Amino acid sequence: PRPVPDLSVPELLELDRRHVWHPYGPMPGRIEPLVVESASGVRLKPADGSGELVDGMSSWWSAIHGYNHPVLNEAAHEQLSRMSHVMFGGLTHEPAVRLAKLLVDMSPDGLEHVFLADSGSVSVEVAVKMCLQYWRSLGRPGKQRLLTWRGGYHGDTWQPMSVCDPEGGMHELWTGVLQRQVFADPPPVEYEESYAEQLRSLIERHAHELAAVIVEPVVQGAGGMRFHSPAYLRVLREACDAHDVLLVFDEIATGFGRTGALFAADHAAVTPDVMCVGKALTGGYLTMAATLCTSRVADGISRGEVPVLAHGPTFMGNPLAAAVACASIELLLGQDWLAEVKRIEAGLRDGLAAASDIPGVADVRVLGAIGVVQLDHPVDMQAATAAAVREGVWLRPFRDLVYTMPPYVTGDTDVARIARAVCAAAREG
Ligand code: PLP
Repeated sequence: PRPVPDLSVPELLELDRRHVWHPYGPMPGRIEPLVVESASGVRLKPADGSGELVDGMSSWWSAIHGYNHPVLNEAAHEQLSRMSHVMFGGLTHEPAVRLAKLLVDMSPDGLEHVFLADSGSVSVEVAVKMCLQYWRSLGRPGKQRLLTWRGGYHGDTWQPMSVCDPEGGMHELWTGVLQRQVFADPPPVEYEESYAEQLRSLIERHAHELAAVIVEPVVQGAGGMRFHSPAYLRVLREACDAHDVLLVFDEIATGFGRTGALFAADHAAVTPDVMCVGKALTGGYLTMAATLCTSRVADGISRGEVPVLAHGPTFMGNPLAAAVACASIELLLGQDWLAEVKRIEAGLRDGLAAASDIPGVADVRVLGAIGVVQLDHPVDMQAATAAAVREGVWLRPFRDLVYTMPPYVTGDTDVARIARAVCAAAREG
């Protein structure tokens, strides 16, 4: 790859600080971002000539096959030479249809219909719209609230924000403005019948006004990197069925193998009524997400006074993203992905065992290709990131958490290096 053209790194950083809004950042920017020139395999190449960094973040859960992958590159080039985009209204094409079929085949039984959204947040918007519209169509418009767990994260657009952690979360600023949803405590790690009972009675009590329960199954990600027993998914399924409430699983972070099952729902053999996927869908190459639903939901909507789902983003079904998503899924399913995830799990368990002895560490947990060190104090993001970079690893700690979810192609030596960097970041952050 060519070096970043024309601008020196200091010039680029100055323009970035003045003009470019970064995720969750103030304007002008205060934290100096790292300028990346290119990425290949599991390594990011900084533009300042400093050493390459092993990526411990998979670009926020997405780059499961690493960067610059020949198979994904080939799929993108091939599709680019045909068409990069056409509108999806009134037109269709092979990449979108093939992707829908792949998703239906690999996801829990019963999910049959696929809405191709353009980001995770939009796929959650669509999921919520489907659920609310379903009950309207059935003549029960009073069912329009959602129940979720505190400590969750479902995206930054308006409706998803209303089901994110309401206290101390990223969207606390909007408490009181957003629709008031029903919140349950986050689930305990292990199965506890008393907690399951609380969940059941909360669903029963609010059933008359609930369109759906929406949760991140097995791992609550950006809201706190908490893990919980899959048994709670069965509790939700049974309670939702008993009380006429739809069940939505947000698998945007957990999907495509990350937790050691293709979808976290598979740990409990539960099919939700609606499921959102994104992030790793395109192997982290392009922005695309999807909302899957059962025929019950689709048929319900079709029977309504307004029998259409009124949602149609300009870039819906983008052929380039869909072609890469097909290639990414085929690449994943064509290998023993579970063995790779288990290998990383074992490496993270070994490497992070030392973290328990670090002063200020409250908890260390590993599940699938996810490793988390939780501190008993807020992490100093800059100090922790710098400590990881000194170990040759890219991490992005937040709140009281230093964590990693590396690409599945990360070799054992690099997994060990990532674990050392997590420990260093926990020590110095
Ligand atoms: N849902 C979950 C569980 C997520 O982790 C995220 C992103 O972190 C989202 C939804 C939002 O996805 P996106 O950032 O693509 O809008």
